[in-house]
Amino acid sequence: MNKKPFVTHEQLQEIVKKYPTPFHLYDEKGIRENAKAVKEAFAWNPGFREYFAVKATPNPFLMEILQEYDCGMDCSSLTELMLSNALGITGEHIMFSSNDTPAEEFAYANKLGATINLDDITHIEFLEKIIGQLPKTMSLRYNPGGVYQLSNGIMDNPGDSKYGLTKDQLFEAYGILKEKGVERFGLHAFLVSNTVTNDYYPTLARTLFELVVEIKEKLGIKINFINLSGGVGIAYKPEETPNDIRVIGAGVQKVYEEILVPKGLGDVSIYTEMGRFMMGPYGCLVTEAIHEKHTYKEYIGVDACAANLMRPAIYGAYHHITVSGKEHAPEDHKYDVVGSLCENCDKFAIDRMLPEIEKGDLLVIHDTGAHGFSMGYNYNGRLRSAEVLLKEDGSTKLIRRAETPKDYFATFDCFDILKGMDYSL
Ligand SMILES: *Cc1c(COP(=O)(O)O)cnc(C)c1O
Repeated sequence: MNKKPFVTHEQLQEIVKKYPTPFHLYDEKGIRENAKAVKEAFAWNPGFREYFAVKATPNPFLMEILQEYDCGMDCSSLTELMLSNALGITGEHIMFSSNDTPAEEFAYANKLGATINLDDITHIEFLEKIIGQLPKTMSLRYNPGGVYQLSNGIMDNPGDSKYGLTKDQLFEAYGILKEKGVERFGLHAFLVSNTVTNDYYPTLARTLFELVVEIKEKLGIKINFINLSGGVGIAYKPEETPNDIRVIGAGVQKVYEEILVPKGLGDVSIYTEMGRFMMGPYGCLVTEAIHEKHTYKEYIGVDACAANLMRPAIYGAYHHITVSGKEHAPEDHKYDVVGSLCENCDKFAIDRMLPEIEKGDLLVIHDTGAHGFSMGYNYNGRLRSAEVLLKEDGSTKLIRRAETPKDYFATFDCFDILKGMDYSL
């Protein structure tokens, strides 16, 4: 089975003349079409907003594209907040869904007027000590505990996760917030990751909508927005059927009309915080085969490594690989496709059937647009790659330069020890 890259072999031949491999390439057309589809899928809800999970792809050029579709930003760290602020995204366009949050980050989020989404009941006091009077709008993150199961068997284990408040704590916390002068309330939950099913949001919505009704009836507190957070997955494997955001939006609408509207809650806003679904399919890692090695297995060594894309190494995650220009060749060779880290987990594919690969071939590693570049690191002194945008008109634009050794050594620049470093090769 196959997956088609968004870039053709001919385009890629031109692009690599301009930008040396490896690099992450992003598809502006795909990003725009998808962002528009998300907006339309939830247009039935007048207060709807997608807050892009910045950690997925923290690139200002890509965030700027999403801004055009009225996306807000979901931040969870100081630098993510700074990035949003630099783009003029502030106030209610920032959702600060952090956990284990340092004091100065709460202070900065509050300064930007972000909506603060608390991960724990003790953070109410923590926050109050830092900023004094609580903001008028506050949100709480719910964790129902136990195992959360969808109808198709996909599940996750909220009971084992570090996030969110228990139900009892949630009820107590809303009461405390109200007492302390908070006027607008949000409810947030993120229970299952990378769900490849149209059922997750509607199922989660039912859980949260019923809870919102209970909060209204027991506490007399009206929840103003419900944040379904992330977790909407993408089809990494060619045999998977991609989620249909229109079906998902309509599924949430049905539950909304069934549960919230009859209780007089037909004006509650729906928020989402998708990262993977907004960017994942619209990025790929382009890398060149630089070695072939025949030992107990057949290896192809490429010029990218797990420092550029960590998901296969840490989760055993599948990323489809296309050998550019050999899209129609028989997949009759079994390879491990590996990077250069001194770690045996640095493999983009294990026992993968691919066309015969020759040195110099370009490999397209699919679906790296979210949690790809951003999880990068510098182990083994490997440097982070460039990011390149393939624009709608077919031209390209560098949207982040590759790291150089100078960047790698920059944190010694306050000392003299590397003063004489020779950067010439
Ligand atoms: C990571 C994260 C998201 C985005 O998750 P995806 O699965 O990429 O959509 C949203 N909200 C919070 C709080 C997160 O930590």
